[in-house]
Amino acid sequence: MTIRKAKKIGRNRLLRWILLMLGLIAVIALTGMNVFSLYDIRERVTESEEERQLKKAEEVAFLVQSEIYQPFNKLLSISKEDEKSLEDPETISSNLENIFFTLYQNPFTNAIYYTPEGIDPCEGGAEIFTFDNQFKKLVTTNSYPTLVCDGVGLVRSSTRIQVNNFDFRWRSMIEFDAHRSMNIGLINLTENRVIGYFTFILNEKNIVNELITPLINDYFGGADNNGTIVWLHDHRRDLVLASNNPTKNFNIDLVNKRVRFPRVFGDWILKVSFVNPQVTSAYQETFRKNILVLGFAVLFLLGSLFFMFYTAQKERELSMRQAGFLANVTHELKTPLAVMQAAGENISDGRVTEPERLKKYGVHIYDESVRLRKMIEKLLDVAKYDAGEALINPSVFDLEKLTNEFISENTSYINEQKFELEYQPANTTLPVYIDRDSFETILSNLIENAIKYSADKKRIVVSIGENNGHAILSIRDYGVGIKNKEIKNIFKKFYRVEESLTAKTKGHGLGLSIVKNLIVLNKGRIEVESEYGSGTTFTIVFPKLNAQEIKNYSQKNSIILTNQPHKEVANG
Ligand code: ADP
Repeated sequence: MTIRKAKKIGRNRLLRWILLMLGLIAVIALTGMNVFSLYDIRERVTESEEERQLKKAEEVAFLVQSEIYQPFNKLLSISKEDEKSLEDPETISSNLENIFFTLYQNPFTNAIYYTPEGIDPCEGGAEIFTFDNQFKKLVTTNSYPTLVCDGVGLVRSSTRIQVNNFDFRWRSMIEFDAHRSMNIGLINLTENRVIGYFTFILNEKNIVNELITPLINDYFGGADNNGTIVWLHDHRRDLVLASNNPTKNFNIDLVNKRVRFPRVFGDWILKVSFVNPQVTSAYQETFRKNILVLGFAVLFLLGSLFFMFYTAQKERELSMRQAGFLANVTHELKTPLAVMQAAGENISDGRVTEPERLKKYGVHIYDESVRLRKMIEKLLDVAKYDAGEALINPSVFDLEKLTNEFISENTSYINEQKFELEYQPANTTLPVYIDRDSFETILSNLIENAIKYSADKKRIVVSIGENNGHAILSIRDYGVGIKNKEIKNIFKKFYRVEESLTAKTKGHGLGLSIVKNLIVLNKGRIEVESEYGSGTTFTIVFPKLNAQEIKNYSQKNSIILTNQPHKEVANG
């Protein structure tokens, strides 16, 4: 490889890493931005939903207030005559009688009292007036609840401030004694004096049950709504009077917002809890889906990035192996040719005449041509598998018999290499459906490797056996062994383990790739067990035929053509 080419490869590699990093940063940044904006949107949706719910609670408070006020409006604009008739409360005008009658019918009012100015209902036994519904009249009474004293006391102080300061912004003063009574002070504007005080005792139960509860149910849904919960809480008595969802107990920690009934019900507060508002929970669902889709997209993107990077890396490795292989092969092809050329030249020149030397040259030429042939055959085999053109012609064989034959044919060669071969037969017939040539190539490659990669202990054990309906052939050596991490690589095309012995031995990293291709073509599989430094066992497993299969296969003489290059090996 030239220096320029090496530099270019280095640059490309750096560029690939930079692009991968940039890709990763982009994916992370995009994901971060997306997650952030999703969270942001969720916050906003939650906030605006909470605001919406709060507005609803304020509207409920407003509606309650106007519902309570509304029937009393007529009383706030009575005529001078009506006012005058109050000088003698027992003969009030018919207009006033009607107003009182209507107010008495109002479910939110329990009783109506009138206290003329000058009379103090807080003094025991003081005589004031009450509205008699039956006779539609104000009648005297001295038995009334203390609420009247409280209410009149309240409204009196504010009306007196107005009268004393000539400040008649309101002709009548309304004061609420918490949620218990409503009190109106009547001021005579021309004479600048207070005429008297009306006290309406409010019906708490009806206000809660007929007004507030239906309203909050209407606005926030009933027990089925687990989103927003509204409690009507009397804080002075610490009592929950109503709730849109009675299944949820009042819990002060859950309260997010408070809405009061200004000037009307001093002790009552609507306490609102946004447990899980509907819109928010709907958005939560979308949010979850978005995050899920985003997660998958990111995983997919990262996966693709890594895959692209990984395959580029693998392709680079393969091309480097191929480049190494080419250099090696060129050298390997040239060497035998050079030897044959030199030997041939010497013979043809007539320089070598003695029969002894002639024979030696002949052997040289023969050996080198055999080496050359083997190499060319291997190259052709690989080319055939890659093109999907490998031919096999399987027949029914007894694995034991085939192995026996192979061993007897090759024993002398093995012995020449100073190797001891131990053969452990199965002593039973093991019918398999395989291609004889493939079998020989497989076995010769494995035995060749066992010889090549053994240093001191020159021993090979070939054994045959049967396991679980499979015929098993194993070749064990006591050589250098293969490191665990390398085992997955040795079947790759052009792969050679970079160890000292491998460096010394001749090879192109094609033998095991061819072996695996052939075994797969013959419907078998190969396994490797190795202990680094102690030796390696290659085990080949072929399906053992049953009687029916033997019969079927024996009848047909099939030729199988690979129509696909063997992916695993082709991808290297
Ligand atoms: P080659 O022998 O031409 O290098 P192979 O494909 O036959 O190619 O083998 C690939 C690699 O596997 C070898 O380079 C060698 O490192 C390792 N290998 C194969 N067989 C053995 C063995 N029996 N013992 C140790 N290493 C082996």
